[in-house]
Amino acid sequence: MTGDAASILIVEDEPPIRRLLRTTLVAHDYRVHEAATGAEALSALRHHRPDLVLLDLGLPDVDGLALIGRIRELGPFPIVVLSSRGDEGAKVTALDTGADDYVTKPFGADELLARIRAALRHRLQQQGAERVFTSDDLSVDLMRRLVKRGAEDVKLSPKEYDILEQLVIHAGKVLTHKHLLREVWRDESVDPQYLRVYVRQLRQKIESDPAAPRHVLTEPGVGYRLV
Ligand code: CA
Repeated sequence: MTGDAASILIVEDEPPIRRLLRTTLVAHDYRVHEAATGAEALSALRHHRPDLVLLDLGLPDVDGLALIGRIRELGPFPIVVLSSRGDEGAKVTALDTGADDYVTKPFGADELLARIRAALRHRLQQQGAERVFTSDDLSVDLMRRLVKRGAEDVKLSPKEYDILEQLVIHAGKVLTHKHLLREVWRDESVDPQYLRVYVRQLRQKIESDPAAPRHVLTEPGVGYRLV
């Protein structure tokens, strides 16, 4: 992704959807490779080393979730999953298995492109280890553990800060409840209700309107995302 267009591997067994994806991506200057099966996907990954993988979970030859694990073994390719409507469980499992994000079928081109840009940006940020996050009036300095809203310092409890830190490290990416419980509480079996309480408190401190948050967004049934 240096200078030239990012390349995307489309893994999708249904030709009409694959065509639609290809047309959309090419129209937005992405380079595109295609695979219709899990086996083709793994071979294309080795050959082309794409910048991102767009992965349909329902493939004929391999379980989509198992394929995420195989892709992870080949390299840190960002993975955006194409999932079916209402299948919250599969989305959560996909994210916990190593996917970066998901879009729900049927999806609009704008949403798909936004998720792709976010996943590519997230990967670049991780590589560049960016330590200061700013968005509108919010700034978070991870080195100095300093949070500001406008010119004012925001005082967070340790748990509130730890949640925000995870969201900043993975800005743009949806973090599952399980991810946050594991990283912040060091215990995935903690009741997600605790998380909700802390996120509510965090919003009261960093959002100008906590009832209509603009920074920490809820992904219903899945988790949270910082934008
Ligand atoms: Ca399919």
